[in-house]
Amino acid sequence: MDLKEELGKTIRGEVSDDEAARAAYAHDASLFEIRPQAVVAPKGVEDVRNLVAFASAHAQEGVSLTARSAGTDMSGAAIGDSIIVDFSKHFGRIEEVGAGYAVTEPGVYYRDFEKETLKTGQLLPTYPASREICTVGGMAANNSGGEKSLRYGKTADFVEGLKAVLSDGKEYALGPLDKTALEGKMAQEDFEGGIYRETYRLIEDHYDAIRAAKPDVSKNSAGYALWDVWDRKTFDLTKLFVGSQGTLGLITSIRYRLIRPEAHSKLLVIFLRDMGRLPEIINAVLARAPESFESYDDHTLKFAIRYFRDILRQMKGENLFSFAWQFLPEAGMLLSGGFPKQVLLAEFTGASEAAVDAKIRSAMDALAPLKLNMRATRTEAEARKYWVVRRESFNLLRKHFKKLRTAPFIDDFCVKPEQLPKFLPELYAILDRYHLRLTLVGHMGDANFHIIPLMDLGDPKTPDIIRSLSKEVYDLVFRYGGSMTGEHNDGLVRGPYLERMYGKEIYGLFRKVKAIFDPAGIFNPHKKAEATTEYAMAHLKKA
Ligand SMILES: Cc1cc2nc3c(=O)[nH]c(=O)nc-3n(C[C@H](O)[C@H](O)[C@H](O)COP(=O)(O)OP(=O)(O)OC[C@H]3O[C@@H](n4cnc5c(N)ncnc54)[C@H](O)[C@@H]3O)c2cc1C
Repeated sequence: MDLKEELGKTIRGEVSDDEAARAAYAHDASLFEIRPQAVVAPKGVEDVRNLVAFASAHAQEGVSLTARSAGTDMSGAAIGDSIIVDFSKHFGRIEEVGAGYAVTEPGVYYRDFEKETLKTGQLLPTYPASREICTVGGMAANNSGGEKSLRYGKTADFVEGLKAVLSDGKEYALGPLDKTALEGKMAQEDFEGGIYRETYRLIEDHYDAIRAAKPDVSKNSAGYALWDVWDRKTFDLTKLFVGSQGTLGLITSIRYRLIRPEAHSKLLVIFLRDMGRLPEIINAVLARAPESFESYDDHTLKFAIRYFRDILRQMKGENLFSFAWQFLPEAGMLLSGGFPKQVLLAEFTGASEAAVDAKIRSAMDALAPLKLNMRATRTEAEARKYWVVRRESFNLLRKHFKKLRTAPFIDDFCVKPEQLPKFLPELYAILDRYHLRLTLVGHMGDANFHIIPLMDLGDPKTPDIIRSLSKEVYDLVFRYGGSMTGEHNDGLVRGPYLERMYGKEIYGLFRKVKAIFDPAGIFNPHKKAEATTEYAMAHLKKA
């Protein structure tokens, strides 16, 4: 079959199979590389439906569909070996912004979405650190989270409904149903009725085990969120779809709940030299209900000082001189040898500046006995500097090391903040044995950490290091009852650990979910519950 020709007859949107397109879509922001056969950009829902029908008809020949929006996925879930379906080209319309909600197509960049919602004084507060480069569709498919998740939760908490094309090639609206509406759906003698009946049966038959399997942490993107679908009052398939990484169907529209952000905010910045004081600091800060509580380590700060022109580029409107001036305190610490091990950013918000100041004063008073080096930001530009360093750390690393590559594979685990005093020393003991160059940034308030080592992917020892370090770190996380991914999701890189994290029974249910929605295996194969270490390692980037 001439795939390009067949696809050209199937959809109105663009189809390419030239080397340049295949190479451009062979990567996302992960460690992996997979060259697709073709890349398509559907123009409208009919194209998406036709693509699904085409893939179903040719599933036996290995045809599958991997959805892609902005391609910033760090788990390897936005790449595939058959057809890449690019939603960023023609699914970029915000359909409506209303009071408390917005309806949008999945290919809208978050930065553009936010501009529109802020015009009405509203915000989708679950944006990730990649907010300038990712889309709202990728956020839903990954169940992304970010700096404000501490207060507001993750993307799943904001999806009120969505539309998706399922494996029968039809578009369906998914959303919360009460018992009567659920019974109506289950009585349908069609594909949709079957999906509802089988999912309902699966959950009812394992109800207690499923509820017990929900990780006891504030953030989790691992597996399929079966525990949130049915509480015997409301049945909501969006909970399963959000975070499913395009493995159950293709999202064509999302209705997001929006919030009204507080008018004022300031940062309390704590330069921490002694990690032993962390528990007391976390307790004191969390007790004052910050909107976010983030951190980055000494390596990140050193990179930021070294490459501060890159940071400046993100600081729209700031001039070089005044910006360099703002880094003086940090540069001074570097020279005097009093460099912090971690920089903690606690953001306090309120309806007035006085209310914010009062919260910051209260936190500083509580922390005073610990004799910490800390300061409250005075201006927005000053606060922005810290945010840009926090958000840009991964990008800085990706850009500036030619031989060494950023290697996200232990990039997103989550435990409970109160476990950190015991957990962190055990984690560092593992990391120290590997002597890797790495940065550690994180959502301190959620105990959700992003560790990014820099590695030489051409070194034959690298795959073994990735395998054994992943196993050691994830075993530690699982011993603490944590999740291996708070927000970045499973993809190729963590899918193989799902059985270890959840056990045989729940892992088996994840595989059944996949079989219910996608019996022919046309949606994003080899990801999440279908992932294997062998497949992942065979597709590691070579350099
Ligand atoms: C510098 C950097 C920082 C990051 N920080 C964070 C962070 O703080 N928090 C966080 O959660 N993530 C973070 N990420 C990961 C990533 O940016 C987010 O998960 C983001 O939401 C993905 O959006 P995207 O548009 O790039 O999606 P893509 O990478 O295109 O896709 C992501 C997943 O969604 C699926 N998908 C895309 N579109 C659809 C669709 N229409 N229907 C069905 N499935 C679809 C894809 O198949 C894939 O599985 C970061 C990445 C980078 C590079």
